[in-house]
Amino acid sequence: MGLRAKLHLGHMTKLLFCSSAGHLLQLVYPPVCAGCGRIAAASAALCAECWGTVRFVERPFCDISGAPFDHDRGEGMLSPEAIANPPPYAKARAAVLYDGVARKLAQGLKYSDRADLAKMMAKWMVRAGREIVDDSDVIVSVPLHRHRLLSRRYNQSAELARAISKLTGKPFEAGGLRRIRATRQQVGLGLRARQDNVRGAFAVPPSQMPRISGYKVLLVDDVLTTGSTVAAATRALNRAGAEQVCILTFARVASPGAETLYA
Ligand SMILES: [Zn+2]
Repeated sequence: MGLRAKLHLGHMTKLLFCSSAGHLLQLVYPPVCAGCGRIAAASAALCAECWGTVRFVERPFCDISGAPFDHDRGEGMLSPEAIANPPPYAKARAAVLYDGVARKLAQGLKYSDRADLAKMMAKWMVRAGREIVDDSDVIVSVPLHRHRLLSRRYNQSAELARAISKLTGKPFEAGGLRRIRATRQQVGLGLRARQDNVRGAFAVPPSQMPRISGYKVLLVDDVLTTGSTVAAATRALNRAGAEQVCILTFARVASPGAETLYA
């Protein structure tokens, strides 16, 4: 990079300007790769090198849970877990495996102001979940508890749901689900503790019932681990009369044995 370019970038990071609309001060940063932090091509969220390391979820996988198989068991095959313990949702799909760069993307969306990531992540999700997106009438996201929403500024699942709605034209009901009691962070909890933690935590507000009852719901979350959270949210949607609930997440853990390591 030449000296002039370096000076330009340094200048850009410090540049403060007034927006014509609201006279709001904004800080302008050069585009930075969300995976490695290096300067990326204009408007790209990931550099080519990091993009190449992302592990997309591809077939073969369980037709219900979306869990990847290590060998092909044939079209429409189900995992032993999905047969022994059928989830309340019809199908779950995820774009990528939750590791490496994908993990950084999910965390980047969660803890920093990278709303630009939501657009790229939503594109990957729509591609991975085309079949369940087409088969849904309305999009709902897993809500944060109000206190957590305040501390984290925005709900990453809602950001993804909003971006998917823009890409697909399916309506996003932002208030479709509500947390009706506080829950602990799921991080570090085992499967049973996770299930207990989120049981009865969600409800469809009465005012939203007409937008859920009788409709096929696409429930959006950022990361799927044990599925306890989306299962509890699905039960709330089913109680409100949803005809069907499918789950679309950005990432999922590859093996259930790794579940307690992740958020
Ligand atoms: Zn990179």
